[in-house]
Amino acid sequence: MYFYELLIRINYRMFSFNNYLYVVVFYLFLLPQLIAGDKIVLTNCNIISCADKKLKNNMHIIIDGKTISKINKGKYKGDSNKVKVIDLNGGFVLPGLWNVHMHLTALLPDPNRVQDNESVASATIRAGLNAMDGIRHGFTSIRSVGERDYIDVVWRDIFSQGFFMGPRIFASGEAVTVTGGHRGDVEYGSDGIYQIRKSVRERIQKGVDWIKIVDVEMLPDELKSAIETTHSLGRKITSHSREPATYRSVLAGVDCIEHGYGLTDRTIKLMAEKGTYYSPTIICNLSDQYIKEREIRLAKLGFSTDEQVVNGRTMVAYADERSQEHAEHQRNALKKAVKAGVKVVIGSDSTPIGEIGILEIEQFVLSGVSEIDALIAATRNPAEMCGVLDKLGTVEESKLADLLILEKNPLENISNLRKRLMVIKDGAVVDLDYPNGLSNYWDYYGKKKYRKGYLEDAENQAGFKRGLVSPSEDK
Ligand SMILES: [Zn+2]
Repeated sequence: MYFYELLIRINYRMFSFNNYLYVVVFYLFLLPQLIAGDKIVLTNCNIISCADKKLKNNMHIIIDGKTISKINKGKYKGDSNKVKVIDLNGGFVLPGLWNVHMHLTALLPDPNRVQDNESVASATIRAGLNAMDGIRHGFTSIRSVGERDYIDVVWRDIFSQGFFMGPRIFASGEAVTVTGGHRGDVEYGSDGIYQIRKSVRERIQKGVDWIKIVDVEMLPDELKSAIETTHSLGRKITSHSREPATYRSVLAGVDCIEHGYGLTDRTIKLMAEKGTYYSPTIICNLSDQYIKEREIRLAKLGFSTDEQVVNGRTMVAYADERSQEHAEHQRNALKKAVKAGVKVVIGSDSTPIGEIGILEIEQFVLSGVSEIDALIAATRNPAEMCGVLDKLGTVEESKLADLLILEKNPLENISNLRKRLMVIKDGAVVDLDYPNGLSNYWDYYGKKKYRKGYLEDAENQAGFKRGLVSPSEDK
């Protein structure tokens, strides 16, 4: 609309000068140039569309404005004066990645106590940095599942209005939990059907796309009312979940399960039947052994040069450290779920959402999921879960051009996701260096030596224990 307004203004000026020649020149020469300027051609590339499991070699893609208009075999041979042709030198084009379990402001762990009494203004800035760091890692869409002060809603709107380049956000605002639920770290609990309904409606009134609940301590009537109220208002609902509540949540019609601690075979079967999505957040449930295994692997591949990043991601993994047995259980639950036909999705939980999101995709593969299935869990499945598969989630004609372009094939080695050439959102190329300050996101974790057991102290102070209680069947 802005463009047409501009045209009218330009024309008005031209007519006022009574110079019709300018008008003719404008329409014949300048206008086609302006429109052509919106076209980008990516040529000499391979496509992993995630619409199917095939790799398509030697292709080119025509992007017209925000949309993928054509995908063709072979190199682009059209007129390169009218379009911007980018030769990808055999690079790999994927749909933009999704991270569907993240908290933009959360620091887990928070050894420097950044979050203690933090102002909304400070938290909002950190959230924006995290999101913008995420898109530079290839995450063009994210789902927030628990955020203070509707900071996720604000950034969603800021990014969609184009004031900053950031990922598309599907926002939830703060989680709905009962009083004292989820370690008591949600400020206001909601108890009973009346309060649960009110909390859900309040969040939707404030503009959220999803409702996040914590089912662990909810009674069946509270759980049902949360799901019923959310669906009645046309939104989706996901649950931080632990058995035996997981089974109840799935039965009552929740759209997605987060973590799924102690997930039983019976629940997996029900999830497959009902089409419930599963976000296992494997990365924050690793054992010492798995973390070591991962770091050795990344070092061998040459991705461990930055000491701060290595220390940072190890610190993040230790924040949620649980037993070897627990880590084993989560990995097996993921494998069983994929085998049973449950649609799995990528969620980092911890921040920075870019690096930890990539780690989660790698962790899927280390847990026995194939490379292509891990990529589908990071693209098509989340788009479908969020109800936008008609526009996003795969590389196909007439979809929005949200793309990640890699130097090397991620189907041969999933860590090639780290070799980014370009990120494109809405047909616009993302600047991978911006904002280029003197600090990076890992500086929030500080350079202090991280003390193991940091979280254990916090738990003892809170007077209860995290970690897995032995899975019991819901009678
Ligand atoms: Zn979380």
